[in-house]
Amino acid sequence: MSTPVNLENIRQAPKVLLHDHLDGGLRPQTVLDLARESGYSELPHDNADDLARWFVTAADSGSLERYLETFAHTVGVMQTADALSRVAAEAAEDLAADGVVYAEVRYAPELFQEQGLTLDEIVQAVQDGFREGERRAAAAGKRIRIGTLLCAMRQNARSTEIANLAVRYRDAQVVGFDIAGPEAGFPPTRNLDAFEYLRQQNAHFTIHAGEAFGLPSIWEAIQHCGAERLGHGVRIVDDIKVDDDGTVHLGRLASYVRDRRIPLEMCPSSNLQTGAVAALADHPIGLLTRMRFRVTVNTDNRLMSHCSMSSEFAALHETFGYGWEEFQWFTVNAMKSSFLGFDERLAIINEQIKPGYSDMLV
Ligand SMILES: [Zn+2]
Repeated sequence: MSTPVNLENIRQAPKVLLHDHLDGGLRPQTVLDLARESGYSELPHDNADDLARWFVTAADSGSLERYLETFAHTVGVMQTADALSRVAAEAAEDLAADGVVYAEVRYAPELFQEQGLTLDEIVQAVQDGFREGERRAAAAGKRIRIGTLLCAMRQNARSTEIANLAVRYRDAQVVGFDIAGPEAGFPPTRNLDAFEYLRQQNAHFTIHAGEAFGLPSIWEAIQHCGAERLGHGVRIVDDIKVDDDGTVHLGRLASYVRDRRIPLEMCPSSNLQTGAVAALADHPIGLLTRMRFRVTVNTDNRLMSHCSMSSEFAALHETFGYGWEEFQWFTVNAMKSSFLGFDERLAIINEQIKPGYSDMLV
């Protein structure tokens, strides 16, 4: 008899998260506190419950303006070193409390310069916060490690500068690089210089590709830019055909992605909110898991989607019937795909993930 699959038990199981935005994961009360401290007066509500609901509703509304407004508020209150450290420390604590043992959390440093912080000050403040959060989690009996990904915004022209920043901090647990922001009109190849630089530096990067925009974005990210992972990558299903009798045919790009074990950083709840899929039951994660792509499960924006790693697993349990075996598979997939060194990945798999799931499966 294995442990019953429910939210409370899922929270006890070790989980690994590769795609989580720092500015999408604030505690509602922290948004309020930081707004008060900094004199930010644009928030739509002044109590945590209403504000929490507002973030989810606005992100859910199907309106791009409302969706972007949610990030205007979180970014708006994160313009000082203290604010950045606090948000980072709380992210580490919240993830640890949810049973996450390793997470790669990303953000775009260029968004936090409205009050004159330098890029270095921003990175140092966030790294200090993550280390503080790891210490607090350890004191509460939870072991977590946070790796940082630095993002460049696709619509700006600073990707080489940010890639350089990521390489300079690679010995301080900045483990990789990403580009984020609008896909349509901003193909990944606009940032080729940055990707070439990173490859020459033996540095790691993922690319947001194939979230709303289709196959060309995924193809460019992999074949022109050399992305090691795909942020979302959900539109890879456009290169997969399923016959009426259930026979599945992979196109050449989908085959390549599966053959090369290119990790897909899938974020089911986030895709529902942005309208990339209509219902979780229709989410390509079902087909891609069945076809044994290198699928990982992620939160994207915990505040806007009101989700956690555990709630994502619980939703997949309800919709697709996944249990401990699948959760372990997603978790090992994610750990194998992380930008940590090989020996460190193996250690987490063997010392935390496998024992954690064998406890659940007995
Ligand atoms: Zn994302």
